[in-house]
Parts: sequence; C-alpha cells; structure tokens
Amino acid sequence: MKKLLFVTLLLFAILACTTSLPCQPTRITSQPTHVAPQLADMAWDDRALFRAGLVGTEQATLDSMPGASVYHLDFEVAGDFSTLEGHEEVLYTNREEQPLDEVYFRLFPNTAGGGVTISALTVDDREVEPVYGFADSAMRVPLPKALQPGAQVVIGMDFEVEVPREMGGDYGLFGYFDGVLVLDEFYPVIPVYDDEGWNVEVPPPNADVPYYDASFYVVRVTAPAKVALVASGVEVGREYEEGAQVVTFAAGPARGFYLAAAESLVATSQVVGETTVKSYAFAEWGEGSDQALQVAVDALESFNARFGTYPYTEFEVVNTPMLALGMEYPGVVAISLALYDPDGKVGGLPAPVILESAVAHEVGHQWFYNVVGNDQVDEPWVDEAVVQYITGLYYRDTYGEAAERSYRDSWEDRWARVGQADIPIGLPAVEYEGAEYGAIVYGRGPIFIALLEEEMGRETFDAFLRDYYESYKWDIGTGEAFKQLAEVHCACDLSPLFDAWVAPPR
Ligand SMILES: [Zn+2]
Repeated sequence: MKKLLFVTLLLFAILACTTSLPCQPTRITSQPTHVAPQLADMAWDDRALFRAGLVGTEQATLDSMPGASVYHLDFEVAGDFSTLEGHEEVLYTNREEQPLDEVYFRLFPNTAGGGVTISALTVDDREVEPVYGFADSAMRVPLPKALQPGAQVVIGMDFEVEVPREMGGDYGLFGYFDGVLVLDEFYPVIPVYDDEGWNVEVPPPNADVPYYDASFYVVRVTAPAKVALVASGVEVGREYEEGAQVVTFAAGPARGFYLAAAESLVATSQVVGETTVKSYAFAEWGEGSDQALQVAVDALESFNARFGTYPYTEFEVVNTPMLALGMEYPGVVAISLALYDPDGKVGGLPAPVILESAVAHEVGHQWFYNVVGNDQVDEPWVDEAVVQYITGLYYRDTYGEAAERSYRDSWEDRWARVGQADIPIGLPAVEYEGAEYGAIVYGRGPIFIALLEEEMGRETFDAFLRDYYESYKWDIGTGEAFKQLAEVHCACDLSPLFDAWVAPPR
C-alpha cells in the first residue's frame, strides 16, 4: 500500500474483527542452532533451499523459473545499528531477445535518507567501474562483453549502507527508529528490463518504488543476538558467535527481501492451510497484535479461495514506527505502530478500524504486487486500485455485503479530497500532484474496478480476476493485459469505460 490509507468504516468492523475464527495464538519460542551451507559453496541453480518456504502446490515453481535472478547476500548489522556491511553476488540471466551491454542496479538508500557505497564491483570476477545516475539511485554496470540472450553473468560487489536515524526519508520505512531496524530496499537490486528498456528513474516522492522480476534470495545476516529478526522467506540456518546471531534466510520466488529487527517483539501465530501466520508486536500492544493476526488469517482465507493459494509457508505481520499506515513486502507486511493502540485515533477514526483495513490491504498485495508483479511507478493503479478493490472483497467474504459497502464508502471519501475530479486513474505516479495520487489511485481507482465488476457481472468478473492472477503469476501484469483479459471474459468492448476512467484515447 503505503501512502496514508485513511478509511471511514462503521464501528461494527471493530467488533466483527474478533469473530469468525477463534483466536488461538501460540507463543513462539527461540529456535535451535542449525548450520546453513556457506554461500560460497552453494550451487547457483540449486533450488532445494527454497523448498521449505513454499507450500506443496507451489513447489513446481522451482523448476519453472530457470532464468530468474539469484541473489546471495551476506552482511553484518553493526552493534549500534548505524551501518550494514556486506557482500552481494547476483547470477543474472539475459532473458531478453537482444544482447545487453549493461545491467542496472537500484541503490534506493541514496534517496531514502541514508546512503549506500559500492566497492570491488566485478562481472565474472573482472573488476569494472560503475556509473551512477538518477540522483545516485541507480548504478550502471558495464559488461566487459555483450551478454547474449540466454547467457549468464555473476555480478559481485561489496556494499556499505548508512542507516538513517531520522524519520522522514521514505515514510520511515528504512532506518533505525525507536529501537526498531527497518530495512526497506536496502541492498543493490536489479530493476525490470521491459519494452522501455531498463526501468530506472529518480524515485517519485509519492509512489512505491520496487519494480523487480521475481527472483531467489539467500541472505546471511549477522546481527546482535538480542534482537528478533522478521524477514522475507524462511530461516534455513542459525548459529551464534560472540553476542551475535548468524541467520540464513531463503526467499523465493519473490520480488525482494525485507528485514526488520527489534528487541522485545512478541510473536503469536495461527496456521492457515500450510502457512504459519505470525504477528510480531511489542508486548504492550498485545490486543492490536491479536487483531492484526486475525485479520491476516481472514484475509489469507478470503484471497486463497478467490485467486489461488498464498505461495509461502510463512506470512508475517510486524509493527514498526513509520509515517505511512503499512507497507507490503514478499511474505511480510509492516504496519504502523500507531494503529496498534486500541484506544488510539488515526485520522479521526478509531485505530482498530484503520488497523483492519491496512492489514487486509497489505495482505492483498501478496497476490497483486508480489506474485503478479506490476510497474508501480508507471501504472500505480494496476497495483493499488486493484488491491483497494480486493480489500473490499475481504470485507464481503468475512462479514457480508453491508461491510463491503461500508468500506467502499472510504473510496468515495478519498476521491472527494480532489472534489471528485475526473482525473484519469492510469497516469504515472509522477504526474499526480499533492493529494491527487491518494485520491485518484486509491479512491477513484477502486470505484472504477467496482464499475467494471458491475458492467461484466459479478460471476464473470470474479472468473476474470482469478484468470488474471493465474495468467500473470510470477510474471508482470499491465493495464493493457488487464483490459484485454477482461474483454475476453465478458466478450464485450470495455474501451468506453477504460477511456472514461483509466486514460482518454490518444
Ligand atoms: Zn497498497
């Protein structure tokens, strides 16, 4: 999600969130030592390590993505959490139809209030000189010889990350604040190459920035032993040395790797199918943590039934200080601490009301953003408007139509912030000014999708959305693909509706 998801919901939502399934949290105890293979000893194409992170029906994915990038990260978190120092190697395969002379990496810490310094950059063990651009948010790695379609290179580098301590850059999603380390987009990462070429630009201030192909990550983290680590993927190794824990995570396929760390996080869990759902929160926010767990469980059940089973064996919700309400990552969602106070108010509404819609929304991104990727910078509606719409489906499935209607009122309220102006929902993020981004993409956007549902008929629309998910699984969905597939399902011309709401005809 991100970007202030204030909703107006009826108070019944607060009461209802404790119904439907009995909440039977179990305490999670610390895990024993088990040794993971050293990164240097691991075969690049060995997918066995990722098996534990995938539910049974997803295991076949491991054999179906031979050219997906593989990231090996090994880094240490300083004792005072001020820096990260480590080494990264990426196996990159040219899956395009033309040779590539260069590969780009995004360096988002440089535009998120901190910084990242790269050294010892190599391509297949040959040193190369990087070229920085786009306000240092991107690094061009020249390849010593053109990389032919289907060919592979290993790009290696040392990196040092300066972790910000003042909230403000990137909504507080990256930094060390009030004893919580939050690592959003902290390592060098390869953006999508598509019909535009490499997707690099100065990050727009209003939108989410990650746009990556689904990849595989093995990440070895050395961190003070006193903190709990909440991360994408599953833990596949754990050792202890001189006050530090050395933990290896395997994640993938996934669009990125996220890590949060803090002392005194208490975890509760429930099981949904083959997935263990965990809610991590500070002890004083137990009530909010239980609610977050229940909403996550209900949302997973709703979306599992509608679109296809959540792919991973773990799903985690963690409370962190931030200026947004929540943020999605593969297998993890971070939710603002401010929403966990049962007596708190957020945007004039009871915090538990906002906690529910924020958690359900972020859970929805596991289907649309992680499994089905999209270009959040150029086509944010394909991401956020769709997820706003399916958040309504969570309310419909969990409580009934009245709850969904009530939640849908929040879209109208958002759109009203720009006087219900007919601004197209299909603009790139950078073209929205001020309040327009939230009002149009999060408000007018889902209103459009609800109209589409009405136009196509609910049954046809449901079948379309499920097909869209299955057709673009671990691939990239676009606005054009969304429209074309919808037209196949309804056997109708949706151009008038798309012209009026998404983008006027050129
Ligand atoms: Zn979102």
